[in-house]
Amino acid sequence: MRRFRKAKIVATLGPASSNRDTILALFEAGVDMFRFNFSHGTQDDHRARYDIVRDIERAVGRPIAILADLQGPKLRVGKFANSKIMLEPGQKFTLDRDTSDGDQRRVCLPHPELFDVITAGQNLLLDDGKLRLKVLDSDGYSIRTEVLTGGALSDRKGVNVPDVILPIPVLTEKDHRDLEFALSLGVDWVALSFVQQPEDLVEARNIIAGRAGLMTKLEKPAALDRLDEIVQASDSVMVARGDLGVELPPERVPGIQKRILRACRHYGKPSIIATQMLESMILSPTPTRAEASDVASAIYEGADAVMLSAESASGSYPVQAVEIMNRIICEVERDPTYTAMIEAQAEPAQANRSDAICSALKTVTQTIGAPACVTYTASGHTSRRAARMRPMSPILSITPNIATARRMAITWGVHSVLIDHDVADIDEMVAAACDTAKREGFAEAGNQLAIAAGMPFGHPGSTNLLHIVTVPE
Ligand code: PGA
Ligand code: MN
Repeated sequence: MRRFRKAKIVATLGPASSNRDTILALFEAGVDMFRFNFSHGTQDDHRARYDIVRDIERAVGRPIAILADLQGPKLRVGKFANSKIMLEPGQKFTLDRDTSDGDQRRVCLPHPELFDVITAGQNLLLDDGKLRLKVLDSDGYSIRTEVLTGGALSDRKGVNVPDVILPIPVLTEKDHRDLEFALSLGVDWVALSFVQQPEDLVEARNIIAGRAGLMTKLEKPAALDRLDEIVQASDSVMVARGDLGVELPPERVPGIQKRILRACRHYGKPSIIATQMLESMILSPTPTRAEASDVASAIYEGADAVMLSAESASGSYPVQAVEIMNRIICEVERDPTYTAMIEAQAEPAQANRSDAICSALKTVTQTIGAPACVTYTASGHTSRRAARMRPMSPILSITPNIATARRMAITWGVHSVLIDHDVADIDEMVAAACDTAKREGFAEAGNQLAIAAGMPFGHPGSTNLLHIVTVPE
């Protein structure tokens, strides 16, 4: 089972996609990683989905990645006596620490930490940015505001505070519980929401302790001020355009997306473009032209993966959304302009052994006309550095480590394969590589292959070997 594209597809599972038949159909249509959104559903819901995905993985014999996306410190207002009010532009409205139900003049903001950092002149955005309030003053107990953009406001709607670094931990109590639960299931990736600074990653990194990859969701303007440090401290990055586009004016998001992709490419970290990619397909079997163009642009820009949210979690056409994404990606990757654009953004090899070997792997594979770049990897490091070179032939990434095999599913250009035994020496490694290349349809007897690996085997980050072989009978 093989996909004929380099960029990957991530799909969120939810009520519209929780039975085995649908999840299998999503996989067959092209999903490389399933996202479990811990903002919705119970742990039991996620466990049931987890078991189904792993069962499908066994049945199809391909590693499949699972992402646990933690809710993070999403701020919300309290409740209203009549569950909903109408705010008019120009009126005054107060957010305070009084936990009683709100009315036309005030509502509870149940986040005491905020009252000391919110000051006059800042903006508060409510309900995904639909309403905008300007802070007039704040005294530690109540925040008085003037409504700039009005509208309906109902119970528990979200609050975004774009103008300041909030003194709140990136992992809430719920996140701690969900993180332990997700790790006990055995997820491959954990995503942290509303990361503001690189220090936010430390606690999660310690808790995860190598059991999953750490993905940072970039959705706070403050995070962009320290983008390089954050990308370096992460194992992968999601451009979370939903909240990012609330906290910043929408016209800023496209440029920021390009900047983030550039940084990810530079540091060799997988990047995911997320949110509203095929939004109209929640209700319609075909996308708008603009949505098709948005997905295509992300691919031309060199993203590792594109993501579906409500389209696959709660929409009416989850499988069709994946099929369309698959078709768009394949079409872009056939376009000579794509190759030219990917090459124009090439990042030079850095001055280390892994990059020396991986840039040679790309060149040698091209020079001898080999059908694939082969990597043998324990941690995935060799394969990620090879992917960073963006070779136009597929990267056949071989590992005896199931966690690595799954985690590699979101890396651009990589076809990840798990082998069932460790190798003791170069001969065994070469034999395993040639067998795998034949079995997975990448090479035939008589083809030449270049293989990158690290000796001694099983030691992460030791890439130091490039071997050219002729595939035996
Ligand atoms: P969310 O993250 O769906 O968990 O909010 C994605 C985004 O904000 O774009
Ligand atoms: Mn978000």
